[in-house]
Amino acid sequence: MALIVQKYGGTSVANPERIRSVARRVARYKALGHQVVVVVSAMSGETNKLINLAKEIMAEPDPRELDVMVATGEQVTIALTAMAIMDLGIKAVSYTGAQVPIWTNDAHTKARILDIDDKKIHADLDAGFVVVVAGFQGVDENGNITTLGRGGSDTTGVALAASLKADECQIYTDVDGVYTTDPRIVPEARRLKSITFEEMLEMASLGSKVLQIRSVEFAGKYKVKLRVLSSFEEEGEGTLITFEDENMEQPIISGIAFNRDEAKITVLGVPDRPGIAYQILGPIADANIDVDMIIQNVGADGTTDFTFTVHKNELNKALTILKDKVQGHINAREIVGDDKTAKVSVVGVGMRSHVGIASQMFRTLAEEGINIQMISTSEIKISVVIDEKYMELAVRVLHKAFELEEDRG
Ligand code: ASP
Ligand code: MG
Repeated sequence: MALIVQKYGGTSVANPERIRSVARRVARYKALGHQVVVVVSAMSGETNKLINLAKEIMAEPDPRELDVMVATGEQVTIALTAMAIMDLGIKAVSYTGAQVPIWTNDAHTKARILDIDDKKIHADLDAGFVVVVAGFQGVDENGNITTLGRGGSDTTGVALAASLKADECQIYTDVDGVYTTDPRIVPEARRLKSITFEEMLEMASLGSKVLQIRSVEFAGKYKVKLRVLSSFEEEGEGTLITFEDENMEQPIISGIAFNRDEAKITVLGVPDRPGIAYQILGPIADANIDVDMIIQNVGADGTTDFTFTVHKNELNKALTILKDKVQGHINAREIVGDDKTAKVSVVGVGMRSHVGIASQMFRTLAEEGINIQMISTSEIKISVVIDEKYMELAVRVLHKAFELEEDRG
């Protein structure tokens, strides 16, 4: 007998038929003798609808009241899911976050889970119930309803699995796992049987959005065994997210990630002296603008060009700050922004022990005539910034060069 937490996203509980299908899967797990805790999101589109409704009353909705409101989305699906399970003759009970309780801090709309009181859940499971818990919500110490940020039901699922010491946390969604890259760009992309937590974080933060990033960090920290699966298929093993040491047969490269959201800023002709990097990036940080890659290089004339990337949405804000507050101070010749850029990354823990991955990546791009504008590396990834119009081509040729396509043998 195992204790399994199953989290179902919005498309998996989008209508009564989908909810009945969730109940049937739960029943199959119960029939095998397992204890099952179900975490559900709101029906797909529902949270957006609620937020828009609030905005019709108040342009910037009060965060406490917004949480009271959006939490109702999940309150509907827990009750319906419990009913659907009961309808199959299985005992079920639903709880909102506050009923569990799932204790959070008081940061409305982006609260963090502090503690889960799982006594009631354990008692229910022991009494043969399936327990259905609302994702995305909790309660603060003053009894206020809080929510965990968009996509937060993943975090609820993982946190519950950690607290209950579940044998596995299954995340059911509308894709059947994590892929080597986006199949819309590379039709030969292959589902990975497993991926390490670190790789998953790189893939997710680089734009392959399957799981809320925070839930992956959480699972890594508390050693929760996490699996991503499709709720639209009866069978299928999905993708297991593992720890590196559990996985002896690691491929060198697991996937190609990409991100269209990055813009490049270059500060040209700045004097080469101590403090310049701080004078450029200090005001950017003060404005809460995240910087990703940074490059600086000293030219022969003793001046340097300083280049970095920010999110495209923040390009104009960053340029204004630089032109108003920085350019004069440091005597920079020119400041240019470019939002026609994209980042492409090769990700794999295997590159820790393999040399030559970078040169293979650069050769592959060179053969297609794709110019590399910036490079950054970590132990398990190499990223390049290139012209946006070559992004899909780069992803395709790299996917092929690293032999990530479907094994048709
Ligand atoms: N319903 C919430 C949202 O749409 C939480 C979730 O689905 O994970 O963001
Ligand atoms: Mg989701």
